[in-house]
Amino acid sequence: MSDPEFEEGRLFIGGRWREAAGGGRTDVIDPSTGQVAGTVAAADETDVDAAVTAAREAFDHGPWGTTSARERSRVLNRIAGLMRENADELARLESLDVGKPVALCRPVDVQTAIEHYEYYAGLAQTLDGATRATPLNAFAYTRREPVGVVAAITPFNFPLILSSTKLAPALAAGNAVVHKPADDTPLSALFMAKLCQAAGVPDGVVNVVTGTGPVTGEALLRHPGIDKVAFTGSTAVGRHAAAVAGEALKPVTMELGGNAAHIVFEDADVERAVGAIIKGFVFNTGQFCMAGPRLLVARPLYETIVGILAQAVPGVPVGDPRDPATVIGPMAADRHLKKVEEYVALARQEGGRVVCGGERLDLNGGYYYKPTVIADLPDDSRAVREEIFGPVLTVQPFDSEDEAVALADGIRYGLAAGIQTGDVARAHRVAGRLQAGIVWVNDWAMLDPAVPFGGVKDSGFGRESGPEALASYTRTKSVVISLG
Ligand code: NAD
Repeated sequence: MSDPEFEEGRLFIGGRWREAAGGGRTDVIDPSTGQVAGTVAAADETDVDAAVTAAREAFDHGPWGTTSARERSRVLNRIAGLMRENADELARLESLDVGKPVALCRPVDVQTAIEHYEYYAGLAQTLDGATRATPLNAFAYTRREPVGVVAAITPFNFPLILSSTKLAPALAAGNAVVHKPADDTPLSALFMAKLCQAAGVPDGVVNVVTGTGPVTGEALLRHPGIDKVAFTGSTAVGRHAAAVAGEALKPVTMELGGNAAHIVFEDADVERAVGAIIKGFVFNTGQFCMAGPRLLVARPLYETIVGILAQAVPGVPVGDPRDPATVIGPMAADRHLKKVEEYVALARQEGGRVVCGGERLDLNGGYYYKPTVIADLPDDSRAVREEIFGPVLTVQPFDSEDEAVALADGIRYGLAAGIQTGDVARAHRVAGRLQAGIVWVNDWAMLDPAVPFGGVKDSGFGRESGPEALASYTRTKSVVISLG
């Protein structure tokens, strides 16, 4: 953090760094120590109004929305290039904020975010309309136009990736954005504002307001100058955000909670399946909307897989995120750690057999929890059905394909699902049946900017990534010219 203005954690509004009007500040905690690592401004309604006004001005009167797609594409590529140059710093900030292992941050978080900018830099130039054949004596065609000013509200667990999945397509389509990152993980968003400006994004096109959800987020959500709400976060807050936006008839994208089932059929490659299972629940310390924390195993393999996990999982290195050997860092905040403890206590009461983990790891005052596997829970267990959002895996047996699908789909979430099988026909059949926005077969969390991602049921609606996301930041206008 070499820029003195950025170091002070100010708001980025209209191309300028500013203190919050009310002078409010929020602490940023390093989850690996529990110590305050710095502070950032806490925006109130006045600041949010200034940010939306700057975005409105930039969109309504500035050059961005009418600039050529080719020029926007160049700017997005420049953002990606600057991210590459600053990849170490981005990884450091993301790790400091969230507790992610630095060694994973760069190849995963930073790289994925860069690829989103590069992907949409390419896709920006494909934005075009269509001519429509009509019996009218007219020439009819469509134009794809930007929506306007987008409120991008993002959660704590993947700050950089989830800002890029919104900002890259929104900017590619010519929108202006006001980004509100999560309360306790705002650092990479501020750094990205600096990079966007350096890449040539005009003042006011990208604005960042840090602060709390109920004050900063709520003010943004309710601001009449917003044209679209792109929200990623919990189902509870998303439900509220969708209701507020719906009242004002604003389009929304809702990327919400998940609690994915990972189904292991008896014909699976067990070694391969175990690798995917472990990755699916320990990655990002289980704070992973698309994690696979509900393991469903065909009964003939049930005890075998539980036994292998009991041996293998305690060997996954938990520790300081700055240690290159670390795979599992701390939870991002004390409240997340407490929630995991409550759910594991509940699982014990509900009859679960804790086969490994099940407790905190005391290390440097940080928010560490040992990766935990809990077998034998009944299907009506809350620890199975609710989103724990930590490094906890529950394991249940099943006796038929129908039962596996019924268990997988029997909860209110529908974000991701996974299948382990050697039978390609079964893979296609079950993938088609599962109620989820994405289904992985014989691996977990294979993601790419080209592949749409999003949920069904209480996991939300709308898609990020892919051409679908670009389309969601545009509106179609029809033009019909009389030839009479
Ligand atoms: P959260 O819902 O608590 O917060 C998300 C964002 O909303 C934050 O920026 C927060 O400040 C803001 N917010 C809170 N109250 C608000 C209000 N009243 N008005 C406007 N904004 C408000 O979520 P979180 O704890 O940061 O993130 C974890 C959740 O996000 C999990 O449920 C996870 O599954 C989900 N998630 C989903 C996806 C996905 O793609 N579907 C991706 C990542 C995380």
